[in-house]
Order: sequence, then structure tokens, then C-alpha cells
Amino acid sequence: MPSHYVHTACQDASTRAKSFLRLKKLGLAERKYPEIRRISIWLDDHLWKPNGLTSIKIATHKGWEIVKFEPHKQYWKYINRGWKLANETRIKLDKRNRQLVIYLIFIREVEKYKPKGYLPIDVNENNIAMLIDGVAHLLETSMEKLVLGYYYRRRKIQKKYDKLYGAKSRIKRKALRKLKEKRKKQDIKWKLANIIVKVAYEKQYAIVLVKLGKKPANNMIKKIKDKQLRHRIFQASFRGIQKTIEEKAREYGVPVIYVNPKNTSRICPIHNAPITYSNGSRIGRCSKGGELWHRDVVACWNILLKALRGNGSHAPSPAGYNLDATRMLFGSNATHDPIGIPKSLWARWKSLPQTQKTTVLNRMKR
Ligand SMILES: [Zn+2]
Repeated sequence: MPSHYVHTACQDASTRAKSFLRLKKLGLAERKYPEIRRISIWLDDHLWKPNGLTSIKIATHKGWEIVKFEPHKQYWKYINRGWKLANETRIKLDKRNRQLVIYLIFIREVEKYKPKGYLPIDVNENNIAMLIDGVAHLLETSMEKLVLGYYYRRRKIQKKYDKLYGAKSRIKRKALRKLKEKRKKQDIKWKLANIIVKVAYEKQYAIVLVKLGKKPANNMIKKIKDKQLRHRIFQASFRGIQKTIEEKAREYGVPVIYVNPKNTSRICPIHNAPITYSNGSRIGRCSKGGELWHRDVVACWNILLKALRGNGSHAPSPAGYNLDATRMLFGSNATHDPIGIPKSLWARWKSLPQTQKTTVLNRMKR
């Protein structure tokens, strides 16, 4: 075989060993020694070459061998958007289906632009609020319902099959897989991230997120006593959504800024006075000015102000743009009535439609 196979095999083995040692140090390794169950072959630039768009050449003991492949639909997206193939690739023999699976790696250089403005995002239990040029939009997510729903369904399956077949049965795993929980949650996150990042990209704005502490879902989970469930909710919700937004932003070169989450929904951005919410209501009253505020809208304005004042982690504070924000607030009537967009609607969007305001309101009225 060409000697580079030995080389890449050694590289592969040492990466695996390194990650095993790291896990062991953290006490996360289950076994004494690393065990390899899935084998794939790494090919460096001496072992493979692209050959047109739907085949590659692979170096073998008999010389170059041409392998035609059937691309995944995602492949054309990357090709058409100008991504380049990396030098390395990976192949795997799928014995059961008698297939050769080729993993191609795409790379693209993206330059972050200088933001012309900010798009503040507030991630809540059941919606994502964003403030586009003074108009608040609430994308309904029903994350709480989704996470809890899956949790209970999963537990029901577990109980049923554990009783019948024991804790480690194959049939249980199959039933759990059928829920497609991970994929469905991921799907929602990608759709949200896509809409948000595209708004920011079109306006050449920076996305402003709240810096999450160690327990970001505290409010949502404080009623839940079950430890495992709390953990899952924490995992599934806020951080996951923020991470997906970040990743999508990287793809488009959209800068992401973080601000301190302290008091974002509690202080009136106009009067700098506390807002009081009566028993669990999402509408509160400013204790100084007496005006009404929607909780998520306040949060967005405060996140924006924090970004403008530059007290985020690395937020720039552009001169001149700085602090007429309060006047901006007074001038805007839209502050108090956010545009609510139900999930059934945005889930079918690729980006926020241009005429979204009128269409959404009309449809919601209907
Ligand atoms: Zn006020």
C-alpha cells in the first residue's frame, strides 16, 4: 500500500489516544483502554484527488482508482456557494450495505464585516425575541413544551421496555430512535438560526446575545425537581440555540457580541427604573413612568442599549451612534406591541420575509 496510509493511520490512532486520555483525566472514560469499533480511513492529499464533481481518485496498491459517487443533496449547496474541498477526506466501508462512504470536508474563508448596527436577541423558554430597527418580533418556539413532551414520552418508553426486556435491550433503543428527538430539536434550532442570521447579514448588523451563566435555564426549571430532567432542559434549550446561532453566524461572517444579562427584563430602558410584573404576567408596568412593557421586548431594548454602551464583552462603541437611544425609544410606537410569529409560520420560512409585518399581522387576525 502507499506509505501515506500508514502515516494517516498513525495520525488517526494518536488523535483517538489523545482524546481517550483527555476523557480519562475527566473521569469520563468507561474502559481501561481505548476501544475502536468504527473504522474509517483518513486520506491525505497524497492518497486522493478530486476528479470532476462526482468522482474522486484514490491511491491504491494498483495505482490510482477512480470512484464515482452519489452526492448528498447538501454537497451541491456547498459547491454552488463557492466552498472549497479540503486536502483531507475520509472513507468508510459500510459492509452491511456494501457501500463505500466518502466524507468530504468543505472549507471557506469568511471575513467578518464591521457592523452597521445591532440585532439584539433574547432567548426565552417559549419564544425568541429580536428587535429589528426598533420593531420587536417574537418567534414562538414552545421549547418548554417540546422538551418536556419528549422527556415524558421517552420515560414512558423506557419504563415499558425495561420491564419487558431489561434495561439494555435493542428493541428499546430502536423505539427511542423512532422518536427522532435530537433531529427534530436540531431542525428547529437551525431554522431559527437561519432566520436570525439572515436578518443580521442583510442589514450588516452584529448579533447581540446575552452571556449565559452556568444555569441559564434557571427560571424555567426551578419548578422541576427531577435532576435529570433539569439537566436535559438546560442542555436542550438556551445554550443550544445560542450555539447554533453562533455557528450559522460564522458561516456568514456575522459578528456576534455578548452582553451581561443582569436586569435585562427588570429595568425600564427609558426611566432606568424597575418594572413591576404582577404574578407571572409577561406585561409589566414601569414604576416611574407608568407605561406598560412586554417583558421580552424590554429585554431586547436593554440588550441593545448594553451593546451600544459597549459594556458587552468586546462590544465596540461607535462614536456618534452612542446614546440617543432613549430618544429612539420615545419615538417608537412599536415598542409595546411586539409582532408575534407562530411556529407554524416561521418553520416554513428560509428567512424573514420582506413584508413580514403586514402578512403576519393579517394572518394572525385571520
Ligand atoms: Zn419607564
